[in-house]
Amino acid sequence: MNETLDPSNWDEMRQLGHLMVDDMISYLSTIRDQPVWRPIPDQVKETFSSTLPHNPTNSLAVYDDFKKNILPYNTGNVHPRFFAFVQGTGTPMGVFAEMLAAAMNPNLAIGEHSAMYVENQVLDWFKEFLGYPADASGILLSGGSMANFTALSVARNNILPDKIRKSGLRAQEKQLVAYCSTESHSCIQKSIEALGIGTDNLRKIQVNEAFQIDVAALKRQLQLDKENNFLPFCIVGNAGTVNTGAIDPLDELLAICQSEKIWFHVDGAFGALAKVVTSLSDALKPIEEADSVAFDLHKWMCMPYEAGCVLIKNKKAHRDTFALNPSYLHTDPGGLAGGPEPFNNFGIELSRGFKALKVWMSIKELGSLAYIRMIQKNCAQCQYLGSLISTHAPLELMTPVSMNIVCYRFQFPTDDLTVQNNNNKKLLLELQNQGIAAPSSTILNGHFVIRVANVNQRSQQIDFDILVKESLRIGHEISNNLL
Ligand SMILES: *Cc1c(COP(=O)(O)O)cnc(C)c1O
Repeated sequence: MNETLDPSNWDEMRQLGHLMVDDMISYLSTIRDQPVWRPIPDQVKETFSSTLPHNPTNSLAVYDDFKKNILPYNTGNVHPRFFAFVQGTGTPMGVFAEMLAAAMNPNLAIGEHSAMYVENQVLDWFKEFLGYPADASGILLSGGSMANFTALSVARNNILPDKIRKSGLRAQEKQLVAYCSTESHSCIQKSIEALGIGTDNLRKIQVNEAFQIDVAALKRQLQLDKENNFLPFCIVGNAGTVNTGAIDPLDELLAICQSEKIWFHVDGAFGALAKVVTSLSDALKPIEEADSVAFDLHKWMCMPYEAGCVLIKNKKAHRDTFALNPSYLHTDPGGLAGGPEPFNNFGIELSRGFKALKVWMSIKELGSLAYIRMIQKNCAQCQYLGSLISTHAPLELMTPVSMNIVCYRFQFPTDDLTVQNNNNKKLLLELQNQGIAAPSSTILNGHFVIRVANVNQRSQQIDFDILVKESLRIGHEISNNLL
């Protein structure tokens, strides 16, 4: 009757906590001396197939197991030379905030408690940061995918607010169609599929040589769709594509949406925040007038995973998409069930963690200007890397550097594209396996390219010197059949 899951000896638990804090501070402060990434040995992988533990293990032993089999085989995105996918670095304060949030353990579905106010304040701060209207609604989510999904849900329901919730898509006799570019992130397609609209009704418009949506082609498709009795309901603009960091001509997309009365959504997973960089602010300014914008906080805001955000200009449309008021979630004028409007009215999730705390504490600790400097730094580092590559043949820049992404390859002396691609694949794997740096890859116009996406607050100029030097070394070793 009296058993709990709390420790029998709180002082021992406290000591373990101190040890963990010391170890993690050592881990992060010396991360530069570690390999960026290392392969996981088979005997370590085998430890993950043990059966369900029925009986207790001493807490220190559990922690030792973590240090032995989990910690060393991390993704590597905490390292200054991690440039794969688009993965943020995190900060020490973010680590501690996660612990504090877990200790408080509030649920941000509903209610009168401090965490609800913290999240609302954080949302207000991002509206200010992006110049988005102060009366917009928003919600923190797990990441860009959920933020895009949430925005597209509102865009879809906004066509026939009550009827689509009640009768589904058949409430609307015309087929809904949405538009994005061939460079848009896969989460846009997944959202469109999950929303019942179907991939066939997502028009992926071709891009120009700068990987931006071809606006003339978009207009032609839009016209064709209207003539064929489709109902265009949403255009998704890219503020920083995942492949190359391209920014669609958002001003032109906005103008089309305004004249056609179509929802304008911006996927700005990392790029929206680059609006604060002077050289990019004009291109990204139309975000201020978009109907919705999705962006991540675990990328350029350096929050520990995971956190993303969606802002929606029309609060009523947002609420009308998700709000339900069952008796067990009734709100009261006072008491625990009082408080700000439930977040449950603005998304699919009911139970939600206190991810707002890491955001709130980090922004307070560092100030928004520090983030602006980091975003500027990462863009400048990519310009620097681009210029290094351009002046270090046989390295070759595969697309002009826009924003924070650099795509390059080693030009091997061969006319065979398959050999060229395979050798570059090998070069990338060696960079990773040797623990030197962790770019990732993509395919641009049939060419396999090594792709550096830099949202790394820890990286310094020397890291790009190292990347270029080692890419050249490994490339020559492959050329000379030494690898
Ligand atoms: C990362 C990314 C996403 C997906 O965000 P997650 O946080 O990984 O869910 C969507 N769009 C773009 C452009 C991205 O870079």
